[in-house]
Amino acid sequence: LAKQRGRNCVQVFDSSVEASLRQKQELLRRLAQALEQGEFVLHFQPKVDMLERRPVGAEALVRWNHPEVGLRPPADFLPALEGNELEITLGEWVIRTALEQVANWRAAGLDLPVAVNISARHLLKANFVADLKAMLDEHPDIAPDRLELEIVESTAITDMNAALDVLTACRALGVRLALDDFGTGYASLAYFRRLPVDLLKIDRSFVRDMLSDADDRAIVLSVVHLAQAFDRQVIAEGVETMDHAEALIEIGCRLGQGYGIARPMPAAHVPGWIVWYTAATGEAAAEHG
Ligand code: C2E
Ligand code: MG
Ligand code: MG
Ligand code: MG
Repeated sequence: LAKQRGRNCVQVFDSSVEASLRQKQELLRRLAQALEQGEFVLHFQPKVDMLERRPVGAEALVRWNHPEVGLRPPADFLPALEGNELEITLGEWVIRTALEQVANWRAAGLDLPVAVNISARHLLKANFVADLKAMLDEHPDIAPDRLELEIVESTAITDMNAALDVLTACRALGVRLALDDFGTGYASLAYFRRLPVDLLKIDRSFVRDMLSDADDRAIVLSVVHLAQAFDRQVIAEGVETMDHAEALIEIGCRLGQGYGIARPMPAAHVPGWIVWYTAATGEAAAEHG
């Protein structure tokens, strides 16, 4: 009996694995179609100097504008792409589209650098740097430092030497590099010292509780000091309230990004938001927020 039950269990397990495999295949098929039919869009979240109330750039964040269910966040579809060729196709679409947006804003008189998120597999694929250069060459009017690549710390340590070579070559092209979700990976300080990154992005998990949790506040402070010591810029993710902004400025972190400053928005809303943000005083902004 036990044997029989065991066999049944195996069967149940098999069929659910099959079902989820089928689901994943179906999602992948839909995602390939979505890419062809132009259903992906980039939203942009401003990055600002919180002290001067000055925008310093915008992060491009991909969304799937699904014809039936509407906008879907990256968590709904990026995991399915992991390890698939489509991950790279979409990654290239993101870079190309972000550069086009920089060009469009430039034509409208707005000089705004854009950051894109790069997956580990994309960064470490053959010819990443040559392909990036080709995309930059299509925009001779755009200085390469208008583009910033955000790499999560864990990507940079998957295959350290390979990553170091690619990042160094990207930097030689003139693009800027940021370490995303900093503090959540395990890069050693010895390795960090060799990484040619311009900007550290303090993970929002530390920022979120820094007002109430002394440990988190200490981590934020340490990353700010680390950045200063190594002459890198530092920005806080997940700035959700005015109190966060004030505490960060006090610590010496003037750059911030988060819902308390602006949510990710369609490209068309960015110029108007900048006009409002730079015109409003801190108090007026607090009333709005
Ligand atoms: P990330 O690069 O760390 O991006 C920040 C995420 O935090 C975004 O979520 C953003 O909407 C959200 N966020 C910003 N401010 C706040 C805040 O104040 N509070 C809270 N709770 N959240 C905030 P989103 O757009 O859902 O993206 C999630 C992640 O998906 C990104 O994390 C990034 O790792 C990945 N991702 C997004 N777009 C792309 C892309 O084009 N390519 C790749 N490879 N990954 C992407
Ligand atoms: Mg990012
Ligand atoms: Mg991040
Ligand atoms: Mg994060």
